[in-house]
Amino acid sequence: MTSTTFLPRAGETDSDPVLTLRTLPSVDLLLNLRELQPSIADYGRAAVKRAIQASLASIRKLLAADPSCGTIRLSGLLSRIDHLLQADALPRLRRVFNLTGTIIHTNLGRSPLPEAAIAALVDAARHPVTIEYQLSGGERGERDEITEQLLCELTGAEAATVVNNNAAAVLLVLSALACGREVPISRGELIEIGGSFRIPDIMAMAGCKLVEVGTTNRTHLRDYANAVNDNTAMLTRIHASNYAIVGFTASASEQELGALAKDKGLPFYVDLGSGALVPFERYGLPHEQLPQESLRAGATVVSISGDKLLGGPQAGIILGRKELIEKIRKHPLKRALRCDKLIVGALEATLRIYRDHGDDPDRLAQLLPVLRLMNRAPNDIRVTGERLLVPVQQAFGECATVTLRESRSQIGSGSLPVDRLDSWSLVIAPAGRRSGHGTSAIASALRALPVPVIGRVKDGAVWLDLRALEHESEFLEQLNRIAFSADT
Ligand SMILES: *Cc1c(COP(=O)(O)O)cnc(C)c1O
Repeated sequence: MTSTTFLPRAGETDSDPVLTLRTLPSVDLLLNLRELQPSIADYGRAAVKRAIQASLASIRKLLAADPSCGTIRLSGLLSRIDHLLQADALPRLRRVFNLTGTIIHTNLGRSPLPEAAIAALVDAARHPVTIEYQLSGGERGERDEITEQLLCELTGAEAATVVNNNAAAVLLVLSALACGREVPISRGELIEIGGSFRIPDIMAMAGCKLVEVGTTNRTHLRDYANAVNDNTAMLTRIHASNYAIVGFTASASEQELGALAKDKGLPFYVDLGSGALVPFERYGLPHEQLPQESLRAGATVVSISGDKLLGGPQAGIILGRKELIEKIRKHPLKRALRCDKLIVGALEATLRIYRDHGDDPDRLAQLLPVLRLMNRAPNDIRVTGERLLVPVQQAFGECATVTLRESRSQIGSGSLPVDRLDSWSLVIAPAGRRSGHGTSAIASALRALPVPVIGRVKDGAVWLDLRALEHESEFLEQLNRIAFSADT
């Protein structure tokens, strides 16, 4: 502790002593230093202590390795501490600009929520809410009652229940309706949806016996009919969401499967995944199957995601016959997989938008970000690009060349997997010769911005697809903080 006597006394702020291994100040002394008191107020004492310890450790290491490694002064130590505090104060969950060209990007949190859903979510976060309470009678209510009627109105289902996500919905439906029994499924539908979510594994987890029928490219109604026996629990169709089988293909229609299931007295479960609620043809996009269509075709249970094409919060929505939904709701897993009040509030608000504006495509696209982004006209995107071209070029200076090029965005998250939307991208290429290295330096300079910009590296350049760019002024304002030079 005697090594700290060189520290400036109160009032002597101009003294900036050189630090050596022997004269490094103690943590306690630094914590009491006047210069660090504002940081303690801002970041908290524990955080400042952590930053002091880390900074001292790194300086000690530097000095021990090479005592003559240049001069480290007290001011240098303080700015190192400040740097660490700032970096540490950034949350791990960061807001970003998604210019990847994939609108519903699972790694970037899928769709931004409609404003009404954000308001409902904040309200539910701040106040007590009627998540399981009926105001009319002043008694206990059901969590599902908040969204069930809306879901039934929108899809024509008899009943509905909601869980954490669609993967949870698949697990719950199989567990509740098919545990210990057989489920015939087409070899063309034994899919992996992402991560470790594979249909055969999920079937095993739910305790059902998978019975493969047909072939990868062709499965006929008779294949299902031959597989049905006394131990069959239900018929199932898993929607091909993140891939397409093309060429010499055949599959039984939902009508046929629905009729077969009815004839055998079995439930017919369709996992649709994507979860559009309005016809996509209205937006000039290819047809995406709606849950109401599956239900009409004869499905008795249908599950969809809340945060894919629907554009709401992460949720798994299960629709269907009343007695089947009751059985699903009573399964113990339902309690483990239920949604919290924030999600229920946000989902209710999103569904209300569909109920109230579902017949007005333009209004719907204004209110729902996911539709708004899908619906943006290529020409609008090009005009945005022309506005941004010069400022982005200026931000990179001589070190890179920026051009505006046509590109193709995709919807993402396994929705409409083979279709692309015409779009425009700013293409930033390094000006130097070592282009491979330069390209990744450009990408990381963009990611280092206060609101990180995430693009896509392709053909030796960084592509910023502008279809999903909103909050353009914030994007522009931070451009002057780009730190990139040809030799980084
Ligand atoms: C996306 C998808 C799932 C998983 O849904 P999450 O909401 O991501 O959990 C399940 N089945 C299909 C067919 C899907 O497309």
